Amino acid sequence: MTKITFLGTGEAFAPSIDTGKYGRGKSTTSYLIEPHYPGSKSIMVDAGYSAVASLSSLLANQGGTFANVPDVFLLTHGHGDHYGGFPALLMKIWEEINGIVGSDKKGKERKLEVVSANQRILPKHIDEMVKQVTKLEDPLERMTWLSMEEDYEGFFERFKAQGPTLSYRMLNPNGDFIGEDRRSRINIAAAPTKHGAPNMAYRFDKEGNFAISGDGSLTDESQKLFQEVDLLIHEGFDILKDSYGTNHASVKDVVNYAIEAEIPSVAIVHVNRQERMKKTEIEDEIKRAKRNGVSLVFPEDHWSAEVYEDIKGALFFDENKISIS
Ligand SMILES: [Zn+2]
Ligand SMILES: [Zn+2]
Repeated sequence: MTKITFLGTGEAFAPSIDTGKYGRGKSTTSYLIEPHYPGSKSIMVDAGYSAVASLSSLLANQGGTFANVPDVFLLTHGHGDHYGGFPALLMKIWEEINGIVGSDKKGKERKLEVVSANQRILPKHIDEMVKQVTKLEDPLERMTWLSMEEDYEGFFERFKAQGPTLSYRMLNPNGDFIGEDRRSRINIAAAPTKHGAPNMAYRFDKEGNFAISGDGSLTDESQKLFQEVDLLIHEGFDILKDSYGTNHASVKDVVNYAIEAEIPSVAIVHVNRQERMKKTEIEDEIKRAKRNGVSLVFPEDHWSAEVYEDIKGALFFDENKISIS
């Protein structure tokens, strides 16, 4: 079984606390993936403005710390609501493994692998400037340098002396894996969506298959990637818009695709704060999906989903561990 916790389910600028006007508060879209296999790695997908605070409260509730979680940071694209919290993630880890907060002194033994299949996370001209200044060869390392240097000057170098020990790996979109040995690793593949900045959607295969879109509308490549997953987690910025060729997907188009591709479970995130208020349209899409064999859910922050090798679809739990599928 693989567990996926929704750290954030909101769009870029959704209110992060409950409000009367826009309903329940939402962090920026982010996930914690935990394959339940001995030796497997925990993966945080994206870290926008509020995702690190959300992971912080999740870990506090579960008695965990940033000293152990996550093992891997995986990035879909370079927009602030998916990447703007990355320095905060690194600083949280640094604090908690150097005895600044808490008593853990793991230091350099704490490793974090930074991975992506996206070759163009930073804008080209920025990346070239950073390359000239730093002489760093790895694009993910340049991204890390830039975000740390902007937010917490000097810490990129300080990590080398004090930890966390960072490593960087560009994933092969056609087939790669995360994890050290054959038994515990999770297979991963990627494909581009259509978005305002280059974005890669990911598919994960271990015990049960699922995919995460990041941002953007469906493309031929992403539709191929998502074939036969048990759970598709996709953005749906609008509810009923015709979204093909635009920079965001709609719930309608994702549902149409899921019906055609016979995908049993779909979770929609990143709905814009106005569209989220269209209760009737949302209810109608849920009913339409159900009539056509697709279980459609709109998860809230800190819900989790579990996918299994021998069960088609996904089981959803809210934070009180009540099955709601
Ligand atoms: Zn984006
Ligand atoms: Zn976004």
